[in-house]
Amino acid sequence: MKMKEQQFEMIKQQLKRLTSTDCFYKRKLGGIDVDAIQSQEDFEKLPFTWKGDLRDAYPLGLMAVPEEEIVRIHSSSGTTGTPVIIPYTRQDVDDWAEMFARCYKTAGITNKDRIHITPGYGLWTAGIGFQNGAEKLGAMVIPMGPGNTEKQLRMMMDMESTVLCATSSYALLLAEEIARRGIGDKIKLRKGVIGSERWGDKMRKRISTELGIQLYDIYGLTEVYGPGIGISCDYECGMHIWDDFIYFEIVDPKTGEVLPDGEVGELVITTLRKQGAPLIRYRTHDLTRIITGDCPCGDAHPRIDTIMGRTDDMVKVKGVNIFPSQIEEMLAGVNGASSEYQFTIDHLQGKDVCTLAVEVEKGTDNADMERAIRTAFKSKIGITVNVKPVGMGELPRSEKKSKRVFDNRY
Ligand code: ZN
Repeated sequence: MKMKEQQFEMIKQQLKRLTSTDCFYKRKLGGIDVDAIQSQEDFEKLPFTWKGDLRDAYPLGLMAVPEEEIVRIHSSSGTTGTPVIIPYTRQDVDDWAEMFARCYKTAGITNKDRIHITPGYGLWTAGIGFQNGAEKLGAMVIPMGPGNTEKQLRMMMDMESTVLCATSSYALLLAEEIARRGIGDKIKLRKGVIGSERWGDKMRKRISTELGIQLYDIYGLTEVYGPGIGISCDYECGMHIWDDFIYFEIVDPKTGEVLPDGEVGELVITTLRKQGAPLIRYRTHDLTRIITGDCPCGDAHPRIDTIMGRTDDMVKVKGVNIFPSQIEEMLAGVNGASSEYQFTIDHLQGKDVCTLAVEVEKGTDNADMERAIRTAFKSKIGITVNVKPVGMGELPRSEKKSKRVFDNRY
C-alpha cells in the first residue's frame, strides 16, 4: 500500500521531534538522519520496535513528553513477566475517543443508542475505551464491566440496552443465558461490538442468531491506544483502519520484508499523532492481510482482514504459510469434522511430514473422514497432509487457548 503524502509528513514530523528530545526513540534510533528519509522506501529501512523493547522501558521509559503532560497510563498485561506501561497525554485520550466514536458510527450506532459495556475497567484499555468513545458519540453508557450475569441481564432489560460491547466468549455466554431463560423478547439489543479475541464464523453466527443482532469486530491493542483503531462495517469484509491516526504495513514475520497487498503477514503499526508514547514500526504479532479495492459501504478508509492468529502460530511448510484460522475454516467446511484439531510437522528422512489429528463426530466412517479432510486440506491450503481422525474429546484441552500447532522440525 502506498503511504499517503500526509502520512509521510506526519511521520517525518514525529521522527524529528523524537530524535531531538531525550526519550526512548532518541536512544533507539540513535544517529539516524531524519532529513535523509525522503521516501516510503527510506522509512521502511527504519528498525522495528518489539514488545520486548517496550517491556525493557518499564515503568515509564516510553514517555516522550514532560511528565506534566501525561494524564493517564494504561498497561498491557502480557502473559509473561514485566507488563508494558503506556502513558497518554490529553490529546492521546481525545484522539482515542475520536477514533472509537468513529467506530460506533461505522457500525451504525448513534447518540440515541444505549451502550452496555461489559469489558473490564482498570489498567487495561478495554472498558474505558468503549466508554469514552460512546460518550464522545453522545450515546447513553451503561458501564457494567464484566461478570455477574444476573445483574447484566437485569440492567439489559430495565435499561433497554441497544448495543452490547463484549468479548466474543462473554457475548456467547450472555446469548445462551438469554435463550435459556426465554427472555429474548425483553431484550432490545440491535448491535454488538465485539473485541479482543479471535473468533470463528460458527461462533459469530451463534451469537448473532441467538440475540438477533448484527455484530462488528473492533480492533486495537493497548500499545497503540487500545481497542478502536479500526472496525468492520455492515458488509463484514474486513476492518476499516483509521489511517489518519495510524500508518500500517504488512510484513513477512520471518524476514521483516514488506509484503505486497493481499498477502498474509504480520501487522506493523506506526502512530502518526501519538504524544505520550508514540510507536515507530511496532510489530503487533497479529496476522492479517490488506484487503484491496473499494468497500461496498463507501468508506474510503483502508481495510485489513479479520485477525487470523498470532505470528507465533504460523508455520511455513513446503513454501506455504499455514496458520490456525485456515485450518479451522477448512474443517468448518467438512461434514462430521469438529473444530478440535492438532497439527504436527516432523522432519523425517529429509522431508517435512505434516499430520493433522482431528476429532470427528460419532458414527462417521474414519476412512471417509480421512479422505474428505485430506482433500479439503490440499484444495484449501495447498499441501498434502496425513490425516488422523480421532474420537470426540480425545485431544487434550486446556483452560487457556489450547496449543494446536506443533513444529518438531527444529
Ligand atoms: Zn466498509
